[in-house]
Amino acid sequence: SREVHLASRPTGWPTADNFRLVETEVPEPGPGQVVVRNLLMSVDPYMRGRMNDVKSYAPPFRLGEALHGGAVGEVVASADPGLAVGDMVRHGLGWREYALLDAAGAGKVDPDAAPLSAYLGALGMVGLTAYVGLLDIAAMRPSDTVFVSGAAGAVGSIAGQIAKLRGSPRVIGSAGSDAKVGYLTGELGFDAAFNYKNGPVHEQLKEVAPDGIDVYFDNVGGEHLEAAISSLRTFGRAALCGSISRYNLEEAPPGPRNLSLAVGNRLTLRGFIVSDHADRTPDLVAEVGRWLRESRLRVDETVVDGIENAPDAFLGMLRGENVGKMLVRLA
Ligand code: NDP
Repeated sequence: SREVHLASRPTGWPTADNFRLVETEVPEPGPGQVVVRNLLMSVDPYMRGRMNDVKSYAPPFRLGEALHGGAVGEVVASADPGLAVGDMVRHGLGWREYALLDAAGAGKVDPDAAPLSAYLGALGMVGLTAYVGLLDIAAMRPSDTVFVSGAAGAVGSIAGQIAKLRGSPRVIGSAGSDAKVGYLTGELGFDAAFNYKNGPVHEQLKEVAPDGIDVYFDNVGGEHLEAAISSLRTFGRAALCGSISRYNLEEAPPGPRNLSLAVGNRLTLRGFIVSDHADRTPDLVAEVGRWLRESRLRVDETVVDGIENAPDAFLGMLRGENVGKMLVRLA
């Protein structure tokens, strides 16, 4: 069995040297425990923050130990009456081929109801982030013009599609390549999109939303957030989900410089963390699950094979090499 350890902490952009592939024994379960053979694991932007030794909403990864994060796999040994060999489960011990965990930390999933990857994507943390961020935090109404950044990524692609399915007349997305822009308007049904690398966000947003926006779903922060604040109409709302443009900067510039617009325009800028909103999971599974079954919501994934390539998958995701959710297939 193999697992990926944190070898050193990055400053700025992480590199392959920050990770180490380590051989271990396949564990035996103690009472109340199970051993899971991981089939898929998630690489997520928040893991970049956990590589730093700073206090945050999630504690840092520890040097010389395996990283962890969302995974799904098959129970291969069980010493708990609640889980049987062959059960498929979701849990928090990714970054390793075999996981030893308390049965209480493994949630059974139904591989017949949805593909296993959906439990790390649209029906999991990613989907819940999009759903709660758009509908609860930004309180989107059917008449709202919605702007989503990071729109071709895991959360953004779902947030934009939910906005359309909930009746938005105009959904705008931004992403980091012309191919992704074509994907947003062609495959995902966005009404307009632009490549933020092609020019100032402020100008490109003004061009596709000359009358302004009502809702901004912020995955990116920085220049995107500043541009959105300038475009938000009176009583506009922004869900502050993430700021990936800043995660690898050693010194992030202070911003947004135009925050005072929030006063006159009565804006709401509200941050959130998805784990506080687990109570909305049944609504996510009902509504988004139905759209998935009816093929009204499209989900794409970028899948990398092998635990030895998990660091590359993570680094590639930070660089924008993914369309939809970036996943690592372990078996
Ligand atoms: P994505 O699938 O969107 O992958 C990350 C994407 O970020 C890349 O594909 C890349 O796309 C984009 N990106 C990288 N650098 C930049 C940059 N400088 N400017 C703009 N875009 C950039 O990841 P997720 O969907 O998992 O996460 C999206 C956001 O949501 C992140 O900010 C994450 O931290 C946040 N998040 C927050 C949660 C919460 O509870 N608040 C929960 C889950 C996620 P491109 O090619 O377009 O540049």
